Amino acid sequence: MVYVALISYTPDPERTIAAAARVSTSSVGATKLMEELTPQAVDRLLTRLIASGHLSPFEHASFTFAIEGLSRVTSHQLVRHRMASYTQQSQRYVSLKELDYITPATISAKPELEARYHDMVRAAHRLYLEMLDAGIPAEDARYVLPQATETRLVMTMNAHELIHVCSLRLCLRAQWEIVELFERIKAEVEKVAPRLGAELKPKCYRLGYCDEAESCGIFPTATEVTRERR
Ligand SMILES: Cc1cc2nc3c(=O)[nH]c(=O)nc-3n(C[C@H](O)[C@H](O)[C@H](O)COP(=O)(O)OP(=O)(O)OC[C@H]3O[C@@H](n4cnc5c(N)ncnc54)[C@H](O)[C@@H]3O)c2cc1C
Repeated sequence: MVYVALISYTPDPERTIAAAARVSTSSVGATKLMEELTPQAVDRLLTRLIASGHLSPFEHASFTFAIEGLSRVTSHQLVRHRMASYTQQSQRYVSLKELDYITPATISAKPELEARYHDMVRAAHRLYLEMLDAGIPAEDARYVLPQATETRLVMTMNAHELIHVCSLRLCLRAQWEIVELFERIKAEVEKVAPRLGAELKPKCYRLGYCDEAESCGIFPTATEVTRERR
């Protein structure tokens, strides 16, 4: 199961975003604004920025997460988000003497197939170990490892990108493991920046409709909305 810990972040992230935003219209600088802005003013400002789509000030607050127990299936999807920094455990430099891997619930629900799944993964790992013993470098032996193999990484993402990525990956039509990952990321952000954390939500909550071909049922699709209006 995926594990997420917020290991570091911009101090006072919401005030930093608000002070940065106010610099554009204020006669004083960000240092003074950081002292003067009340929690209520910060909250109001963040609400206004989000409503108007002025999200660049959110780039002044960054969050660094330790992520573990994620499959390679999902880390591949994660790193498609380009406005972030990643450092991932290398399968070239780290030989996997033990293999930790993810078993999706749909497979666990079918015991016969689950048993074959485990057999297949273990057989792949045995061959991997045999190849290492035969002197094949880890960077080549790893070709046999399944995508279910767990990985660990560190990810730094600013608040603008977090809002964007959560709008895509908290969608219930996204793949379950990446939904779980971003649910945990949201929970970590909420602990230190609750106003920002509340903005980490699927895009339909902002749009008021679902822009996917099929809705999960929370909001109607754009086509259904248009049909209702006719
Ligand atoms: C449900 C789901 C299913 C998906 N299925 C597939 C699939 O089948 N195959 C597949 O290949 N991918 C798939 N993807 C990945 C998807 O196509 C994107 O690559 C991924 O979500 C990264 O998002 P992004 O491009 O919005 O933004 P990020 O990389 O997170 O960047 C954020 C924003 O910055 C801007 N930006 C970043 N880089 C550039 C650039 N070079 N030029 C201009 N603007 C830029 C864009 O506005 C972008 O939205 C899927 C994603 C989701 C959420």
